[in-house]
Amino acid sequence: MIDFNNTEVAFSMKSNADLRNAYLLFSTIQSPAIVRTAKGATMIALKLQLPLAWAVKPTLYRQFVGGETLEDCLRNVNILNNYNVKSVLDYSAEGGTELEDVQKAYEETIRSIEFAAGSQAIAYTVFKPTAMIINRVLVKASENFPSLGDIEKAEYDNFRERIFALCEKAYKRNVRILIDAEHFAYQELIDRIVEEAMRRFNKERAIVFQTLQMYRKDRLEYLKFLHNDSLKVNYIPGIKFVRGAYMEDERARAYELSYIDPIHPNKESTDQSYNEGLRYVVENIDNFELFSGTHNYESNQLLAQLIDEKGLKRDDKRIFFSQLYGMSDNISFTLAREGFNVCKYIPYAPVNKVLPYLLRRAEENTSMSGQTGRELQLIKAELDRRRTGK
Ligand SMILES: Cc1cc2nc3c(=O)[nH]c(=O)nc-3n(C[C@H](O)[C@H](O)[C@H](O)COP(=O)(O)OP(=O)(O)OC[C@H]3O[C@@H](n4cnc5c(N)ncnc54)[C@H](O)[C@@H]3O)c2cc1C
Repeated sequence: MIDFNNTEVAFSMKSNADLRNAYLLFSTIQSPAIVRTAKGATMIALKLQLPLAWAVKPTLYRQFVGGETLEDCLRNVNILNNYNVKSVLDYSAEGGTELEDVQKAYEETIRSIEFAAGSQAIAYTVFKPTAMIINRVLVKASENFPSLGDIEKAEYDNFRERIFALCEKAYKRNVRILIDAEHFAYQELIDRIVEEAMRRFNKERAIVFQTLQMYRKDRLEYLKFLHNDSLKVNYIPGIKFVRGAYMEDERARAYELSYIDPIHPNKESTDQSYNEGLRYVVENIDNFELFSGTHNYESNQLLAQLIDEKGLKRDDKRIFFSQLYGMSDNISFTLAREGFNVCKYIPYAPVNKVLPYLLRRAEENTSMSGQTGRELQLIKAELDRRRTGK
């Protein structure tokens, strides 16, 4: 059993000032009322284009974001690498829906692939597929594909081509690329594209990684479909597991449009589905590569145990653990010290662009009261330990 409570290991990268900032931040976002008010005020300030950097940069941004640009992140990437924790640099600008935003996201992802190529400290690149298409075209394509007009159809074809071009670039530069999963409504179309990309580019090893949100009832079956498909067509699926970040939206949409809720009925069944996925992939690891994105203690313990039980090397390059930058450092740093492969998802973007991401993190930490309470307890323990010199 791995002990995730050694705070000296967990916070070895953090200065006292970092820890005090984190303590203040997690204490503040524990209150749903404060988070709601801050969210409302931020949305208004964004609309009015008021400068927010002075308030956000030394607080939320410092805790959860790597910097404004790839180059800004390098300092943190190198520090993490000193502790054998690798990075995934995630361009997290949100809110753009026009072609120029799409082009910007595409070009930035190309740059991030170049940036990662040959770097020992960056384990994967990543992008959000919905950033690669004008939103209204994706909505229409998902709802009623035959109703697309010629221009929309051309934009949809461009979307596919952009994704293939990113995967091809990653393939040529030998960089693994994670394709995030988002809302259920769009995922079906995206799944088909990612499957095609995996068939094309994952012949010798997994370059393209499909994300499976295990809060969905159908994802274990989908995992088995990918396994069978890969054996037939001869490729290695890259599997990124997460539980899924859009539960409330999904439940509300299913209710509103009167279709069966695609999400597991409760946390226990989501947990079971996640852990079952881990067992299946490790059992068949010769046919897969695995990226496990979770802050859940049991799932991280389980994966570590499965690796050991199967007699795999702890740093088998086919298996990575991952957590978000600024969260669950106790898990990341402990696993890395135990010799497992670990990476942090590090978002980067200018302050105004990354705010929706930051507000989601604040909300997520508010709703996961267990998580925030745990972070606070650990930070306090480490500040006490440093003060008393024990
Ligand atoms: C490295 C990394 C990459 C990520 N990439 C993505 C991504 O591409 N797409 C994405 O959607 N999310 C992504 N996430 C977020 C992820 O999906 C989770 O929202 C988040 O990590 C919390 O889940 P957990 O396993 O860490 O923790 P836990 O606290 O164990 O689980 C919380 C999660 O359990 C599920 N859950 C909670 N209550 C219920 C309930 N009543 N019924 C059913 N299920 C429930 C929800 O999915 C909730 O988010 C990523 C997370 C990480 C760490």
